[in-house]
Amino acid sequence: MAPASDSIAAIATAPGKGGIGIVRISGADLRPIISGILEKLPAPRRAIRTKFLDSKGAPLDEGLAIYFVGPASYTGQDTLELHGHGGPVVLHMLLERCMELGARPAQPGEFTQRAFLNDKLDLAQAEAVADLIDATTTVSARCAMRSLSGEFSAVIESLVKQLIELRMLVEASLDFPDEEIEQADRSQILVHLKKLNAEVGRALERGRRGSILRGGLNVAIVGRPNVGKSSLLNALAGEDLAIVTAIPGTTRDAIRQVIQMDGVPLNFIDTAGLRETPDEVEVLGISKTWEMIERADVALLMVEAGKGVLPEDEVILSRLPERVMRIVVHNKLDLTKGTPSRKFEEENQSVYLSAKTGQGLDLLRSAMLEIAGWLPGGEDVFMARARHLDALIGAERYLGRATEETLRSELLAEELRLAQNELGSITGDFVADDLLGEIFSRFCIGK
Ligand code: GDP
Repeated sequence: MAPASDSIAAIATAPGKGGIGIVRISGADLRPIISGILEKLPAPRRAIRTKFLDSKGAPLDEGLAIYFVGPASYTGQDTLELHGHGGPVVLHMLLERCMELGARPAQPGEFTQRAFLNDKLDLAQAEAVADLIDATTTVSARCAMRSLSGEFSAVIESLVKQLIELRMLVEASLDFPDEEIEQADRSQILVHLKKLNAEVGRALERGRRGSILRGGLNVAIVGRPNVGKSSLLNALAGEDLAIVTAIPGTTRDAIRQVIQMDGVPLNFIDTAGLRETPDEVEVLGISKTWEMIERADVALLMVEAGKGVLPEDEVILSRLPERVMRIVVHNKLDLTKGTPSRKFEEENQSVYLSAKTGQGLDLLRSAMLEIAGWLPGGEDVFMARARHLDALIGAERYLGRATEETLRSELLAEELRLAQNELGSITGDFVADDLLGEIFSRFCIGK
């Protein structure tokens, strides 16, 4: 699919007021637009100071313009950036002027989509652009940046290269359909297959561990009133010098706070509703609260140390969906003068701590990170998306089947081809148009 050649324009900076605002334009030939809005055609890749002109030649704003001549640009086409004053009205006037000169408003992610279609980056890198912008913690930002630089793609490409070599080996034998694959070739193929499968498994493992960085771990703190739920949340936030963000668009999902713990985003789900009436069982019946708890990956059931799990708490535990991991947090350890500890029982694990003094918080933190599948450091993980994991799982399945088909070269060749398609879909070698549409529609406008 070739990128469209028409000119697209968008305000690339965030909505609202700012020191500088950028309007970005891209198309096969921007000279007609440039001659209408700038005083002269700028030298490529040089920032020039200029006035931005309206249809009568009067200045709308002044600032910097940078002109990239395709293919040496982000999109691979001509690209122009107008850096003006960052006010919403003046930026809209600049955008309107671009429309007057023939541009149309860009769709979300359309600049990056053009870059992908012009082979400026592969699909996994394009997705990393959005992941970097959406990153909620420093670790996820670094991880997205590594994918954007091509680290993840390089691993996938190396797997594809090995697959191609293997396919050549197998397909050579297809030229002699009546003959079985020679024993020697078969053992060679098996060795390659096993090595390849192990490498796919390793990439999958790195992706699985990294996938938690995208959405974060959803944590619900539940328990009777006054056990210390809010105190725990505050202590965790304070203790970790958290970058506490209210992610726009997620507040409607009742996520109260995102706390980064070792760089992993933990989304604490608001279960404040549980506190509004002393009758906990009645409150827990409120379906809305339960909907939120059901969305959690982990439930922290808070109880008071010394009192332990009471019958009301048992009710809460028994109503938690099976999928939700549980940690019973015995709080207020300072009152019983106990020692912080972490214990593993049959179904649950318990952590004894004090939200007030901070004792034992580190034990809770490691318990949650373990549940998230996070290992310290996390330098080697890929911030994989669900579709990447699915493709790796698919490749693993076809390679597994291939190992069982080493006697029948045609079937073997087919399994290998399918495995290659799966891997190729990650970097966009084989990808359906509607999937592309879906991926880029989640980008912001102007990117
Ligand atoms: P929530 O209703 O479950 O959110 O409970 P809060 O966090 O509001 O705490 C209820 C009361 O318990 C407050 O007076 C807190 O100061 C107190 N509290 C919370 N955690 C601890 C703790 O670890 N030790 C002690 N001694 N008091 C605590």
